[in-house]
Amino acid sequence: MDEFMDGLWDDVGSMDSMIDGLVDDVIDSVIEGMVDDLYNYDPGYRRTVMVVDDEETSRAMLGNILDQEYDVIYAQDGRDALYQIGLHKERLSLILLDLMMPDLDGFGVLNALRANEDFRRIPVIVLTAEKEAEVRSLQQGAVDFLAKPFDLPEIILARVRRSIELAEDTNIIKATENDSLTGLYTREFFFEYGHRFDYRHPAMQTDAIVLNFNRFHMINELYGRNFGDQILFRIADGIRDVLMEKEGLACRYDADTYYLYIEHCEDYQALMDRINAGMSDLLQVPEVRLRMGVFSDNFRSDTFEGRFDKALQACNSLRRKRISSFAVYTNDMHEHELFWAKLLEDFELAIEDKQFKVLYQPKYDITGEKPVISSAEALISWVHPEFGRVSPGEFIPLFEENGLIQRLDHYVWSEAAAQVRQWKDAYGVTVPVSVNVSRVDVYDPHIVEFFTEVVEKNELDPQEYRLEVTESAYTDNSQQIIEVVERLRAKGFKVEMDDFGSGYSSLNMLTLMPLDALKLDMIFVRNLTADSKEMRMVKLVIEIADFLGVPVIAEGVENEEQYHLLKDAGCQIVQGYYFSRPILPDELGRLAAKEQGIEIKTDEINIEDLELKDIEALFI
Ligand code: C2E
Ligand code: MG
Ligand code: MG
Repeated sequence: MDEFMDGLWDDVGSMDSMIDGLVDDVIDSVIEGMVDDLYNYDPGYRRTVMVVDDEETSRAMLGNILDQEYDVIYAQDGRDALYQIGLHKERLSLILLDLMMPDLDGFGVLNALRANEDFRRIPVIVLTAEKEAEVRSLQQGAVDFLAKPFDLPEIILARVRRSIELAEDTNIIKATENDSLTGLYTREFFFEYGHRFDYRHPAMQTDAIVLNFNRFHMINELYGRNFGDQILFRIADGIRDVLMEKEGLACRYDADTYYLYIEHCEDYQALMDRINAGMSDLLQVPEVRLRMGVFSDNFRSDTFEGRFDKALQACNSLRRKRISSFAVYTNDMHEHELFWAKLLEDFELAIEDKQFKVLYQPKYDITGEKPVISSAEALISWVHPEFGRVSPGEFIPLFEENGLIQRLDHYVWSEAAAQVRQWKDAYGVTVPVSVNVSRVDVYDPHIVEFFTEVVEKNELDPQEYRLEVTESAYTDNSQQIIEVVERLRAKGFKVEMDDFGSGYSSLNMLTLMPLDALKLDMIFVRNLTADSKEMRMVKLVIEIADFLGVPVIAEGVENEEQYHLLKDAGCQIVQGYYFSRPILPDELGRLAAKEQGIEIKTDEINIEDLELKDIEALFI
């Protein structure tokens, strides 16, 4: 049996190259007008079957019989068959396949069908005059056979009918029909029936819609799973409500994602409000919101799945939005995708060419009379040869998704450690540096070793090398991160919680979290005035930090007023454009040295190997 299977795979392998070769032939045949256009939509739901036979009389005879119940497509040999199957795969319910044909015979076609994901579901009945061939063809995936010369028309029709029914049932059984929580279709069933929906409504303009929650896990964490389930059910109810009025279908695609396929809708806000309606009284966490991506299509320009990919892209474009919103797919999303694709493509070269530059933004201790540099944050910047300076806000989330972030962060972490050493050696100053740790890095089992090695290699004290972990990474996977951070702190590293206030740490959570400083999210500083809500928030955070015994770092300080308000409220450390932008390492070294009254001899300065235009690009 194994040998048999191996042989089969060999056949399949050689089929691939053969199919490639077919493309040219196909183009020829189209040019010569050899492909008959038998493709007419029928408004009723007539299934489509294909007859593949090199003998014209056989084709005609079967066609006559099948014509009563089915739309029939014909192919005159194996190559023609594969071409036409490719064209019509979505509406083909069955193939009647002659085994004996010149060039590519029925077995070859069977092999090619089984090797292809999209074709595999189409049942095949083989037509043969040889008894032995029946067994072999059944082994190769045919569902039934018809002996030549052909039986009575009734028998042929009955066998075709039964095979189609069986195949459809199997496809549906494979896809357990309904999602047990929401009662909507499961995704497999949805795709199966989506194709059929298209076939039945060939001229309908449709919308592919993807609905997804921001941070749904928060609901489960804050209110428990039962409550989360209730929300998911309410959304499904909202979707059902829409489906009462509009033709279409929907599924729960996965945990908190729904796919909805309906006839075109004019007012997406109203659609969204309707879906949201049942939920708003339940859900009190303002940041957990539904977002919706839409791809509207008049002409079925893309495959069913392809249209949902685009809707998903539109939905993803809202990832950073904190309010409920929708987006319709546009070409600039496509352009953005292309831009991202280019960044991904250029990553390797950028690392090699050292296009990534690490800048340092000083943090100032403001507890004394005069602000003094207490440390600095390493911030990556990409000077791209084509796009100029690309902000980390653009590429960090992209690299996080694509698994490249680790390499980039390793690069920054090593550079930063070497930099602290260099400042010590060249200027005689110690400026501890903090590096950003991506939420993805936390899963790296060797992260602790990496930091330990890099610090040892540069003969630094772990106190001189700090880590910033964004608050939402803590809340996304608290167990994992608590463990990693505890191991790092055991080695003497200090860990700062970045963007504090943007995530959703509960007070209870905070007391469990190992951390050495709270970095207040910039948003609070941005709108800081004496009597503002933000001011009360800042005071509250400072109290919490006091309670935890850690300092508060305020970032994004841009003017004098903010600085004084923070200082008066008891904030110890600040960082922001008011004091300094992120700057080149040598500038920072000099700044720190000057502050400490250390004289620098010019020949000690290690001028960065940067061209002037690069430096300019960094500060645009
Ligand atoms: P972050 O860690 O919260 O960094 C602070 C961001 O605020 C930096 O933006 C900084 O340039 C900017 N900033 C500093 N002072 C001010 C100010 O006064 N006003 C305003 N409006 N902005 C200010 P940047 O460099 O664009 O970095 C954005 C984010 O990208 C960072 O946020 C961090 O999360 C991430 N990031 C930066 N470098 C790295 C890195 O090497 N690795 C990883 N994983 N993430 C990084
Ligand atoms: Mg940071
Ligand atoms: Mg931050």
